Amino acid sequence: MRAMDKLLAERTNRIDASGIRKVFALAAELKDPVNFSIGQPDFDVPDPLKEEAIKAIKAGQNKYSQTAGDAILKNRIAEQIKNEFGWSNPAVLVASGVSGGLLLAFLALINPDDEVIIPDPYFVIYKHIINMLGGRCVFVDSYPNFELPIEKIARAINNKTKMIILNSPCNPTGAVYSEEQIKALAKIAAEKDILVMTDEIYERFCYDGECPSIAHYCEKTLLLRGFSKSYAMTGWRLGYVATSKSLKNVIEEMTKIQQYTFVCAPTPFQKAAVAALDYETSDFVDAYRKKRNLLYEGLKDKFELIKPRGAFYAFVKAPGGSGSNFVEKAIKNNVLIIPGNVFSEKDTHFRISYATSDAKIQEGIEILRSLI
Ligand code: PMP
Repeated sequence: MRAMDKLLAERTNRIDASGIRKVFALAAELKDPVNFSIGQPDFDVPDPLKEEAIKAIKAGQNKYSQTAGDAILKNRIAEQIKNEFGWSNPAVLVASGVSGGLLLAFLALINPDDEVIIPDPYFVIYKHIINMLGGRCVFVDSYPNFELPIEKIARAINNKTKMIILNSPCNPTGAVYSEEQIKALAKIAAEKDILVMTDEIYERFCYDGECPSIAHYCEKTLLLRGFSKSYAMTGWRLGYVATSKSLKNVIEEMTKIQQYTFVCAPTPFQKAAVAALDYETSDFVDAYRKKRNLLYEGLKDKFELIKPRGAFYAFVKAPGGSGSNFVEKAIKNNVLIIPGNVFSEKDTHFRISYATSDAKIQEGIEILRSLI
């Protein structure tokens, strides 16, 4: 044990994956469970996009691309960002998934003791990378309705605050922040001159109107978007980071770090991603809206839950008060869910991913209802 302590870097102690591991250990024994734990769509990559990837591989586009991304893809993304947000000359970096972009951004920005404000519940990666780098996560509670806790964020800002992280639509809550909330946050960020990182990987999975982006209102925004969820290409490892030209140096530093780490995102998939940018995904989104409705209508009279408005998750209050205990009970009954404390400093809820077939959603609803 002692030898192992010496072998491993101290930073490994700052990562805790025990919550998820416990779920998977319990799940390993199940046969054909209702899997409500998955973080990826249940549809496959659309055929025309697969064809583009195959075409690129066959045409020999299998070497490194430029560090910041294939020029055609990068320019197309920059053009879209310019049209959407009016940024005159956006800087873009194509990364190995949004996860890759997040790591590069934190490496480029976080010094030990820097504080990062994060609404709680939150997507797991943020906390663990920030901790690993010696930064400090300052969680602001967004329970019970999971709206953006503007006043709490304003109060949490001090001279150590490096950035605020937004994730809308949100994993794990399915919350979509309103235009009003986003504008209020942009005003605070501008007044205090604080960087906002906005993780918009679920931007297309938005069921009740638009998903407003803070990039409309705040020039000092690091915008992260990806291909994994919109086109079900989680294994293709593609995402991007974009900023207005005022933060060009951040993208340049991230590109330098990419040069010495990931080198570049997978080249043939970058070629295929150009076609993905124009691909119409509204059929998938319509199907996922139906799944959201099915799940919400199936649970709302028995469980305490806020109607999710985006992504493909619901964050449900655990009967009995302990997320972990309820998850154990659910798994014993063949339903895989994730305890809230994986995504939160509290253990009062559990996360359902409804990215599965309608039949499985129905089966899961019935089992969960029977557990109360
Ligand atoms: N951000 C959020 C909020 C996510 O849920 C995920 C995937 N679970 C990611 C980023 C990372 O996605 P990827 O690296 O596949 O682009």
